[in-house]
Amino acid sequence: SSWFRSIEPAPKDPILGVTEAFLADQSPNKVNVGVGAYRDDQRKPVVLECVREAERRVAGSQFMEYLPMGGSIKMIEESLKLAFGDNSEFIKDKRIAAVQALSGTGACRLFAAFQQRFHPNTQIYIPVPTWANHHNIWRDAGVPMKTFRYYHPESRGLDFSGLMDDIKNAPDGSFFLLVLTAHNPTGVDPSEEQWREISSQIKAKGHFPFFDMAYQGFASGDPERDAKAIKIFLEDGHLIGLAQSYAKNMGLYGQRAGSLSVLCEDEKQAVAVKSQLQLIARPMYSNPPLHGALIVSTVLGDPDLKKLWLKEVKVMADRIIGMRTTLRENLEKKGSTLPWQHITNQIGMFCYSGLTPEQVDRMTNEFHIYMTRNGRISMAGLNTGNVGYVLDAIHEVTK
Ligand code: PLP
Repeated sequence: SSWFRSIEPAPKDPILGVTEAFLADQSPNKVNVGVGAYRDDQRKPVVLECVREAERRVAGSQFMEYLPMGGSIKMIEESLKLAFGDNSEFIKDKRIAAVQALSGTGACRLFAAFQQRFHPNTQIYIPVPTWANHHNIWRDAGVPMKTFRYYHPESRGLDFSGLMDDIKNAPDGSFFLLVLTAHNPTGVDPSEEQWREISSQIKAKGHFPFFDMAYQGFASGDPERDAKAIKIFLEDGHLIGLAQSYAKNMGLYGQRAGSLSVLCEDEKQAVAVKSQLQLIARPMYSNPPLHGALIVSTVLGDPDLKKLWLKEVKVMADRIIGMRTTLRENLEKKGSTLPWQHITNQIGMFCYSGLTPEQVDRMTNEFHIYMTRNGRISMAGLNTGNVGYVLDAIHEVTK
C-alpha cells in the first residue's frame, strides 16, 4: 500500500554523524570530542559511587509499582531543595507546581506543551546559538519562536548589550528561555552582575523566565553556585519555570531523571498548574520512570550519600576545568598568537573553540579528531593522554 511511500528519511543528527565517522576511523590516534557525555581520564563512562550505593540500597526493597502521574514525591522534594534552597519560603508556602519529567528534555517539552495550551500565541525567545534540541522541542509543541542574541563571536564571550536590547525590544510579556548554567554549545555564562541586570530587565518587561538547568553542580563543582541566577530572579520577585536534569551531574543519562517546576503566585494556583501539567503528561507517557527517581531521592535524601555526591560531582567538574587550563596554557606556550582566554573563561562540558568549519575539517581529515563543524569541543572527551595531541592539532590548523 502507499501509506508510507512518500516519506523521506529524516535528516541525520549532526552529532550522531560525528560519532559514526569516529567509529569508522581506523587510526589509533583518533579522538572524539563531539559527544556531550562525561568520560574519566581513562576515557571511560562513569557510574558515581553514590549512585552505586543508592542502587544497592533500593535493590529488592521496592515494588515496581507505577509512580503517581506527577512522579516521585520524594524526588520532587529533593529537586526543589536543590534548586530553590533547603529553606526556601516558596517550598514552605507550597507555591511551586512540580512534576517529575523525562530528564531535562522531557521537562522542556512538558513546559512547551503547557505554554502552548495556555498561552498559544505568546512567543518564546531562545538564545543564538543554543542546544539544537531547544528548536525542535518548542517547534513540535507548536509554540511560536523568536531568537535573542547571546554569543559574541569576536570576543568568544557574551553579547551582553545585544542580549539586553533584545529583551528590551521583545513584546511585553514574552517567554524567555534562559540556559543555566554552562551554556550549551558555547560554555559562555553571564556573570552574577549581568544576571542581575538581565533579571531586572525581564521584570521591567513583564517577561516570563524559563530556566533550563541541565548541569547543576557539573559546571563549577558547586550546585549552589551554579544555581545562583535562580536565587537572583527569586529575590527580584519573578515567577519562573525550571527544567532540572540529573543526566550529567549524577551520570544518570539513560535513566531519564529530571523535573519541571513552575513557581506560582500562591498554593491554589500551584495546585491548578500541577494538575494541568499532569493532564498533559498522562496521554503522552502516563507516568514517569521509577528507577532513576529512586536513585536521586536516595542520594539527595541521605546526608552521607549527598556529601559523597557533592564530592564526586566536584571531581568531574574539576577534571574538566583542569583540561581547560592545560589546553589554554599549552597553546600559549607553543607560541600560538591567537587569544585563548575564552577556553578558561567558558565553563562546563563544552568549549566553543572558535575554530572555523574549514579548520574543523582539517582537524578531522588530517588529525582524526572528530567534532561538530561549529567548532564545539566536548571537554569531557579530553584527557591527560590525548590533550597534547589535540592541542598540537589546534595549533597547526590555526597557524
Ligand atoms: N538542556 C541542555 C542545555 C542540554 O545541554 C541538555 C543535554 O545535552 C539537555 C537540556 C537535556 O538533557 P537530558 O534530557 O539528557 O537531561
